[in-house]
Amino acid sequence: MSRKRPGAAALSALVAAAGCVVTLVVAGSLTEREEVAAGVQMDRRTTTAAQAVRSETRRYADILRTTAAAAGAQEELTAIEYGRITQPLRTMQLAGATSIGLVVPSTDDQLAAVQERWRGLGLPNLTLHPKGHGQHAFGVVTTTLDGSPPGAGIDLMQAEAPAAALAEARRSGQVAISDTYQLLIDQTVPADRRQNSFVLAAPIFRGSGQSFLGWLVLGVRGQDFMRDTFEQTAQGLLDLTLTADAADRREVTVARLAAAGDGPRDLTRTVDVPVADKRWTLRVAASSKALPGARSIVPLAVTAGGLGLTAVLVVLVWVLATGRDRARGQVRAATAELRAGEAASRRQADLLGAVLDGISDGVGVVGPDGRFLLHNPAAIRILGRGDPVEGMESWQGHFGLFRVDGVTPFPTGELPLVRALAGEDSDQVEMVVRHPTHPEGLVISVSARPMETSAGGRGAVAVFHDITERKRVETELRGFAAVVAHDLKSPLSSILGYADLMLEDLNQVAADGDPEALAEARRGAAKVIDGANRMQRLITELLDYAAARDATLRLADVDLRSLVDDVVTTRTDAPDGPDGPGSRPDVFVGPMPAVRADPVLLRQVIDNLIGNAIKYTPPGRAARIDVTARTEADGTVRVQVADRGIGIPAGEHALVFDSFHRASNGTAHPGTGLGLAICRRIVERHGGRIEAGPNPGGGTVFVFTVPAAEHDPVPVPGVEPVESG
Ligand code: ADP
Repeated sequence: MSRKRPGAAALSALVAAAGCVVTLVVAGSLTEREEVAAGVQMDRRTTTAAQAVRSETRRYADILRTTAAAAGAQEELTAIEYGRITQPLRTMQLAGATSIGLVVPSTDDQLAAVQERWRGLGLPNLTLHPKGHGQHAFGVVTTTLDGSPPGAGIDLMQAEAPAAALAEARRSGQVAISDTYQLLIDQTVPADRRQNSFVLAAPIFRGSGQSFLGWLVLGVRGQDFMRDTFEQTAQGLLDLTLTADAADRREVTVARLAAAGDGPRDLTRTVDVPVADKRWTLRVAASSKALPGARSIVPLAVTAGGLGLTAVLVVLVWVLATGRDRARGQVRAATAELRAGEAASRRQADLLGAVLDGISDGVGVVGPDGRFLLHNPAAIRILGRGDPVEGMESWQGHFGLFRVDGVTPFPTGELPLVRALAGEDSDQVEMVVRHPTHPEGLVISVSARPMETSAGGRGAVAVFHDITERKRVETELRGFAAVVAHDLKSPLSSILGYADLMLEDLNQVAADGDPEALAEARRGAAKVIDGANRMQRLITELLDYAAARDATLRLADVDLRSLVDDVVTTRTDAPDGPDGPGSRPDVFVGPMPAVRADPVLLRQVIDNLIGNAIKYTPPGRAARIDVTARTEADGTVRVQVADRGIGIPAGEHALVFDSFHRASNGTAHPGTGLGLAICRRIVERHGGRIEAGPNPGGGTVFVFTVPAAEHDPVPVPGVEPVESG
């Protein structure tokens, strides 16, 4: 695969870094803004809470002050008047308020008078219970507001916190608030329900004379007092803790509400709240997670969105940056593939071209219109022409196509290529090709097939080869077989026939010694021998004929004269033949140049010709033969054998060289018709020609050529030459 360019990675990394930085900066600034907003929220809620605490305590103080003023306005504050004045407080259901009481001061020596006076004012059962000595403050009438039992005659100076508040109220003439403390009554309840309480004390002054009458004291449980206020203020979002100083300066909790949910209290505020003559402390805590407007998912969403967008951008940049590389890689791969394909096709085409150029079979391809698209060199060689030809109709005349008889024009519709264009296969259709530029004529075998052309139409391809030689051999073989069959069978059947007769004759000789029968038997034996000789001759000539074609030429410089003399001697010295005594041939042998030939085969030629010249002589006449030779202008040696025999009928001189051909006038003489065929083979293998012609004045003249000798030959007749080649 293609290598990723470094630019793609760098670009993607850059986009990733930039995306992350932008996302984090935006998210950071959003968080910062949210923190500021949370602070503002917190401040606002803290202020609201502080105001609530303040206004609630002030409300209690105001109620107490107003009630105290009402009490001071009475001519005489009786128990009944007190009850009437404080009645509204009982119905107001002030949160956390436990009791309201009228407290009057007394010194030790005033005790009896005070007790007597209030017994007179409607509290006949009042008994004061002083604690210690000095100043006392007795609750003469106490009304419970929460159902706790009223206590009368108790000396409030016994408890430090209320005592201080009473003193302060009397001194300042204002409502005073005590430090927090635990009510006596609360010390009997379970620890978790004990609350810190405080009292509000309002001084009662009679008329405008400002004579001090006592205090109106409101007892309040801190937690109950603040519960509703806190709940309304906190709205489930804030922890609120209200603390005050205890008498011993310890900080004690007046009220507490934990309502800020689960999150960490990351937002806290502490404010002082003025309560009557004191200052309480309000602590507010909240979790920014829970506080509306303090923390949103916006920064988180922005971060997630930003990072997501960055990731998408990075992927996009990567894909775009590497896309070119990928595309280029693909193009490169495809191009390489195409080139490989092209090269392969070219190689195939080259190979195909080489094959077509090299094969000996002719190949021709035609398009749908019969126009030749392709033909190879062998096609031109076999057909004898490669010039363009128009239309199928003209093929027969152009190429000279005939039936195997060599004369009937081949019908166009049956030509293999024409049939292939019509969709038909043809196999090994034989025809003859002959025209002016190819006059010798060839037999060819043609096969053709329809084929798809690259343009999509139907074309055709033909393959053909020269079978002339094969046909010739076939013809030859057919004749050969027929003659062999005939020429071997006829002597054989005569042998059998005579052998049969001989047997009968011999039986008769054995039976009665008939001399006639004996003579018949002898004639029969002679016929048997004759038949056997004929068979032997035929077999020998068949072998010679095959050898003349197949034997290796062993060329040497041959003394022709010695060779001819040797043949003549052998032929003429033979014992009297069938022609009997007096038929001894008269042979003249002229001077002769040396030749270059295979001496064994050349001897066979000479022997055949001289043998025929002797054989084809009219009966009763001696053969008259002239054997001469001369060197021609072209350097070959021309050898001539002329006789005065029976001659060959006109028109048959060329045919006698065909195998098994016997001239019409010569059949009286024994023969196979192979001798001259053997001669022609041998002469042609030496590069020469052989022909026959009439001898003027009667008889036949045979002429053949052979190459002249290269050096002087060693004249040793009948001896195998030492040089070969
Ligand atoms: P064969 O002699 O066995 O018949 P050849 O091939 O030698 O076969 O000769 C072929 C034929 O040619 C002979 O049958 C004969 O008719 C004719 N022929 C050959 N030589 C002569 C000749 N010298 N004179 C007349 N006819 C001949």
